[in-house]
Order: sequence, then C-alpha cells, then structure tokens
Amino acid sequence: MLTGDTPTGRLHLGHYVGSIENRLKVQEGYECYFLLANMHAFTTRAEQYEQIREDTIEIVKDWLACGIDPERSAVVLQTEVPAIAELTWFFAMLVPFNRVMRNPTLKTEIESKGLGDQYPFGFPMYAVGQCADILAFRPAYIPVGVDQVPHIEMCREVARRFDQVFCGVDPKTEDADYAGAGGVFPIPEALIGKVGRLVGTDGEQKMSKSLNNAIYLSDTAKQVKKKIGAMYPGQSRDPDQPGDPEINPVFEYAEIFIKDEGFVNELKERYRKGDNLGDGHVKVHVIEAVNELLEPIRERRARYEGAAGDKEVIEIIREGTKRANVIAEETLAMAKEAMGLRFFDREDVLG
Ligand code: ATP
Ligand code: MG
Repeated sequence: MLTGDTPTGRLHLGHYVGSIENRLKVQEGYECYFLLANMHAFTTRAEQYEQIREDTIEIVKDWLACGIDPERSAVVLQTEVPAIAELTWFFAMLVPFNRVMRNPTLKTEIESKGLGDQYPFGFPMYAVGQCADILAFRPAYIPVGVDQVPHIEMCREVARRFDQVFCGVDPKTEDADYAGAGGVFPIPEALIGKVGRLVGTDGEQKMSKSLNNAIYLSDTAKQVKKKIGAMYPGQSRDPDQPGDPEINPVFEYAEIFIKDEGFVNELKERYRKGDNLGDGHVKVHVIEAVNELLEPIRERRARYEGAAGDKEVIEIIREGTKRANVIAEETLAMAKEAMGLRFFDREDVLG
C-alpha cells in the first residue's frame, strides 16, 4: 500500500476521515509506504523551503500520533528517492499533455489556490509525478480522499499503457490480471475513506491545508472550540424557528464525529421543528465529539515535541526512506529493462 501527503501544512480532520482511518486498517495486513511529497510542495511554494521542511516533520508527527507504526510502515521522503523522479520522465511520455490539463482536480486547485495562469510547468507535472510516486512501489491499494480519484485514474491509465507498450500485455486483460500477464505494474485501486470529502469550516470548499478552513489534528481543545464556534450555520434563525440541518455544515460534522447516531437524528428533528435548539447548542455537542477524537492524538503527539522529537522523526524518515529506495530502485530497473533502456547495472556506473 502506498499513500502520502504534501507538506503544505499540518494534517486536519479531512485527512483523518478521508484517508488516515483506512491507512490504519490497511497497515494491519499490508506492506505500507507513506510518502512525504515534499517535491510536490515546491510546485506551489518553492521559495518557502524552510516551511516545507518544518511541515514535513510535523506531518510525520501527525502520522505517529494517529497510530502509524514506523516499525511496520515505511515513512518515505520523496526527494531522497531519485527513482521516482526518473520514472516521472518515462511516464510523462505515456500520457498526452491535454489529458493532464483536463484533470478536474488540477483545474480546481488552480482556481481555489488562486494560481492564475502563472503557475510553473512543474505544477501540472506533479500529477504525472504522482503516478511515479505510486507505481514506484507497485502497490495494490491507495487510501485517498475523493479529490484524488482523477489522479489515481490517470495513474491506472499510465500503468496499463506501460504494461501494454513495453511488456506486451493484451489491452483486453482485466485490471486485476496485469501483473500476472507479465506487466511490470499492477493496476492499483483507490480506497476511499468513510468521508471522501470533508467540508471546511467555511462550509463550502473541501477542508484543505492551503485554504485556511481546517481543523488540525494538532489544534488545542480551545482552538477547536473557537473554529467550530465561528462556523456559519448556513442560515440565520432563532432557536424556536424551523431550520434546515441539510444546509448547515455543523450538522455534517455532527453526523461524522458524534458516535451516537440516534442522538444526532434527535438533534436534527428538533432543529427542523424549531424546538428550542440554538445553533450554539448543536456546536457544543460537535466540539465535544471532535475533542474526544483528538484528545488521544494530542497526547501521543506530545511525545514528539521539541528538538528531541524532531531528531526521532528524522531517524524514522531515514530508516523508511532506505527501505523505500530498495523497492523503488528495483521497480526502476524492471521498468528500464522492459523499455530496453538497461544497458548495464546501475551500480556499475553509480556505485
Ligand atoms: P493542499 O491544500 O496542499 O492540497 P490537502 O489538505 O488537500 O492539502 P493533501 O496533502 O493534498 O491535503 O491530501 C492528502 C490526502 O488527504 C489525499 O488522499 C486527499 O484526498 C485527502 N484529503 C485532503 N483533504 C480532504 C478532505 N477535506 N476530505 C477528505 N479527504 C481529504
Ligand atoms: Mg490537496
């Protein structure tokens, strides 16, 4: 299994319900690689390298706090796995330029991040790079949120195309049989979380590190209270006036984070009727539920505070990246062999 996060900020509740819960499940039975996509962070904030470094370390702390176990799973730093960059070049040859630019997630990102028409060439290139991030590990599963589905679809197309062009796999082959039919790359599957797209505290856009609408896994109880407390409930009403829970994003959080479903339904009913239920009351319950989820994560995270924690994290990254390079180098060699590009052993020239 392969998945990852871009160090453009710390992890938030969207990551948790969109991907991390699945990662924890898959970690039980699969060989897992967690990628820190620091190269991709440079596509939108190239001059903020110090911030990228800091966020990279903080994301690992978030992972560890959630229960990602570095003994089992490799924590991988993208820029220290050169095979990924090389595979990106090969894959860029297998996907039409217009196909990349039609990717709806790229379009949304260009708009929501205000990139205008001055974004670097490397920005759309990250979508091709992501095919390499994934395929370097030849995974079966990729736990992601729905915004990643177009990327994963492109990755699957690239894998099929590579196997067809360079390994002679019949295009009629079922996805599940590509590796068995002689392909270098299995066709990986996206695993979408229980909530594929968690809305941000703005109630509109997806919760995102870059959009200032996130509740972070490392937020204090007070910060959570403040952020949820300030959410616009989608309508203005008095507690004794009927309201519509369906257009109130606080209810979306209630459904996801309050464990007692019957209680949530009761709240919704009272809200609909205008049965003396203020927006503040609903928020109190949501704040409590979110803090209940975050408290053990905060406790585990506290273990990695400060310089000693940073050092421990860097050691974890070093170990995981070493493991990752073994498999990524193997994949690169297999790809080159299939492409007729392997003139000699890499160690002979680089070693
Ligand atoms: P950025 O704003 O920099 O793009 P992000 O918040 O979108 O950051 P990513 O690192 O791009 O975070 O995404 C990491 C993973 O988390 C992906 O699998 C993505 O689908 C998932 N994810 C991100 N935001 C959400 C969300 N709001 N709901 C569900 N899943 C999400
Ligand atoms: Mg994103």
